[in-house]
Amino acid sequence: MSQVDLHFHSTASDGKLSPAQIITRAAEAGLKVIALTDHDSVDGIIPALKAVKAYPALTFIPGVEISTDLSDGEAHILGYFIDYASPELAKNLQKSRDSRSGRGKRMVEKLNALGVNIEWARVQQIAGDGAIGRPHVAQAMIEKGYITKFEEAFDRYIGHGGPAYVEREKMTPEEAVAMIVNARGLPVLAHPFTVKDPEAMVISLKKVGLAGLEVYYKDNSPHQTAATLQLAKKYGLIPTGGTDFHGIGDSNEVRLGGTEVPLSSAEQLIKLAEKLHK
Ligand code: AMP
Ligand code: ZN
Ligand code: FE
Ligand code: FE
Repeated sequence: MSQVDLHFHSTASDGKLSPAQIITRAAEAGLKVIALTDHDSVDGIIPALKAVKAYPALTFIPGVEISTDLSDGEAHILGYFIDYASPELAKNLQKSRDSRSGRGKRMVEKLNALGVNIEWARVQQIAGDGAIGRPHVAQAMIEKGYITKFEEAFDRYIGHGGPAYVEREKMTPEEAVAMIVNARGLPVLAHPFTVKDPEAMVISLKKVGLAGLEVYYKDNSPHQTAATLQLAKKYGLIPTGGTDFHGIGDSNEVRLGGTEVPLSSAEQLIKLAEKLHK
């Protein structure tokens, strides 16, 4: 069981547990340092900060995960120690969420045209106040019996390049890094294997302020973890990690804290943030 988990989602985006529920889960799991990283939203941070007060041994880092599409993959940028009260950040994230909503609706239309008759209103209902994402679409498909597992939705319909997939409004990974830097956060490239050439991406993002690389990730092979650690060392990036836990409850989901992340990773991140925010 890891002491650190720096990547998971709550109901503020496409996770199933509320921020308060996740904090309780993390404390019960014996975690020491955690970060909430909802997609394009910091709405879960204040409730999480309130909940974490009950657990003095638990260190909470405010975070976010910003999604960008590439022609041949996706790049997700994590932002740690982000100024979640920044009005400019709020404006930018709202724009991303609006684009998620339009994109979700178009994916539903494409699915309908393919004979998958789910309703956009139901997808919105499932998402509630959270930033709409493909897992909400997938859940609507499960409810109607079109698929039985989440992965099927991605494999057959809404995975990158799938027949019902719709891209986000264009934001480059460089812009996402800049957005985080402007909000005094530390940008980290998430699960680098979702881009074709992780090293080229690192080189490009390093120029605009990349601080870390997600080395420890739920479904990395040992080889991938070793290769990413090498890359982090080569470019002087802090190796971070986490489970990307969503609380979906699928049999193959890694539980909160279920990916080993060294305590020293979190310590390096905290130290850099302290230096920056002095
Ligand atoms: P979106 O934010 O709409 O781009 O959706 C991305 C989210 O979909 C990820 O954070 C995961 O929760 C989920 N996801 C992506 N690929 C898969 C997959 N192959 N199987 C299950 N869930 C996935
Ligand atoms: Zn997600
Ligand atoms: Fe991601
Ligand atoms: Fe994630």
